Amino acid sequence: MVEAVGNETVQLFESGAVEQIRDKARELLDSDKVKCFIGYERSSDGINARPAFIYDSEEVGRLVIDNACSHNLVKYLLNRKGQPTGIVVKPCDSRAINFLIAEKQIQREDIFIVGVVCNGVPQSQDGKEADKLKTTCHNCILHMPVIYDFLIGEPYEAEENILPAYDDVKKIEEKSVTERLEFWQTHFERCIRCYACRAVCPGCYCTQCFVDSLDPEWVGIRTAPSENRMWHTIRAFHLAGRCIGCNACEQVCPMNIPLSLLNQKIGKEVLRLFDFQAGLDAETAMPLATFKREENLEVGE
Ligand code: SF4
Ligand code: SF4
Ligand code: SF4
Repeated sequence: MVEAVGNETVQLFESGAVEQIRDKARELLDSDKVKCFIGYERSSDGINARPAFIYDSEEVGRLVIDNACSHNLVKYLLNRKGQPTGIVVKPCDSRAINFLIAEKQIQREDIFIVGVVCNGVPQSQDGKEADKLKTTCHNCILHMPVIYDFLIGEPYEAEENILPAYDDVKKIEEKSVTERLEFWQTHFERCIRCYACRAVCPGCYCTQCFVDSLDPEWVGIRTAPSENRMWHTIRAFHLAGRCIGCNACEQVCPMNIPLSLLNQKIGKEVLRLFDFQAGLDAETAMPLATFKREENLEVGE
């Protein structure tokens, strides 16, 4: 697990990483191996980072890589199906590539993956929480991308059989059912149904989300406690065994709803029941998308 040290956050990427990314992007674009390279560039505020789409090798100087580069860029690959694309990924983001390949949404041969070794991303760049890592980084079992063509950082052998600690989930599990319901209701009631969480999630790529369907109407469109609870419960189940823990949903939520906590709880149950964690490879079928006749989970009937 990764820890921030005092007020000094562990530096995310080794020095020289930005030059390596720019050189690789230039090489890929000049050789026509990719038509677009997706990475990060500095935002207009001069502090944060935002996604960058580079089509011309003369533009690679825009690319940056530092502690502000926390977004998961993999969702953008869904807009570039069938088109050769280069992309920068952190280890958690690389898991999204695996599961999108497994779900036949993208093709491995269309993508050139620049993977970066990662030591954890700060919660924010505004200086107030620079010493605090993102929620999911505390639970991270990876520091090496699980799939890549070019690696930035020192490669190392991951220890086997390391499982997420789920410390935050365990704290919630200690509460009574009533307390847990109250905890989530309080959070869900604040949801404004902006769907930013859905927009950034690599697992939410349905052409029509259940929440937008009027016939049948699965969930009412008003922001009310019962509808909000339904939205969050169904979305969490749709991500069961598929969420790769990138924290992108929680990061964009304008209401600071602890979405990763909910997704981690489901991930913990999927691990317990199926011994499965999403995106560690591109071949293993998602447990909730498969069925074995002999399966007996001893839950319910
Ligand atoms: S549910 Fe959130 S943490 Fe999980 S894959 Fe989607 S955006 Fe990432
Ligand atoms: S919440 Fe469910 S239906 Fe909606 S986009 Fe995500 S996976 Fe699809
Ligand atoms: S981003 Fe936050 S406020 Fe918006 S729909 Fe998702 S949980 Fe609700």
